[in-house]
Amino acid sequence: MMTTEAAVKQRLSPSAARAAQLAHLALTPRQEIVLLARALYREGWDDFEVGHITYRLPDDTFLTLPFERGWDEVRPEEILRIDIDGNVLEGDFSVTGAIVLHLEFHRLRPECDVTVHQHPRFTTVWSAIGKVPPAYDQRAAYLPDDQIAFYDDYSGGVNSVDEARAAVNALGDRSCAILRNHGAFVVANSIAQAFGRATSLEWRCQQAWHVEAAGGGHEMPQKGRDWLAQAIAVGCDGALPHQWPWAVRRELRADPALLQGEGIA
Ligand SMILES: [Zn+2]
Repeated sequence: MMTTEAAVKQRLSPSAARAAQLAHLALTPRQEIVLLARALYREGWDDFEVGHITYRLPDDTFLTLPFERGWDEVRPEEILRIDIDGNVLEGDFSVTGAIVLHLEFHRLRPECDVTVHQHPRFTTVWSAIGKVPPAYDQRAAYLPDDQIAFYDDYSGGVNSVDEARAAVNALGDRSCAILRNHGAFVVANSIAQAFGRATSLEWRCQQAWHVEAAGGGHEMPQKGRDWLAQAIAVGCDGALPHQWPWAVRRELRADPALLQGEGIA
């Protein structure tokens, strides 16, 4: 008899058609990080601050966004490659000093390849309210409660190694943090997983704000939350397989020339 874990995996595994669709997305790492920034911008990670994303390469250097470009306009040829100390190895733009939080995270959690920090509207609302919002619908429950930290020791900056290390330690082995009076920090093993987690966090915060502004509602039942958390973690490696390709197609429809002219493998 098939185990519960195996059954979930079989039910949610990509079909042959879907696998072919994913293979069609043969993106370079620079294209992936740009598409992640643009897709998240469209999902509310858009407060006109630059924020930061890092993406580990196989040689343990990192791609990151240039300080001089917004998330909705950055292009693959503008992406920087940096080392673990934040020195620019490739690229003509500059790196924000706040990148130290991301690099300390990569130093202490070498198993994770992607970090994302920004100030999405509804996550930032809950960062001011001062707690992790309840999950009121299934999309909100894609992120289990125990995957979201609330970091309340933030005092205005994460530009020093000590501050960054404290934030990383507060995150522990969780995948997301709400930073008090600041924003969100999300970590992942892939760009697709980062997109899934980041959009689930903001969705959860948005839905909770609306429900509670309307006077309150019923949280997702624990049984449903447990099933969804297991399905996402076990069956989909942390991200529903249709979401990232869908987001990529949307960005390429909006800017069909986006993948032209990168010039860097
Ligand atoms: Zn910030």
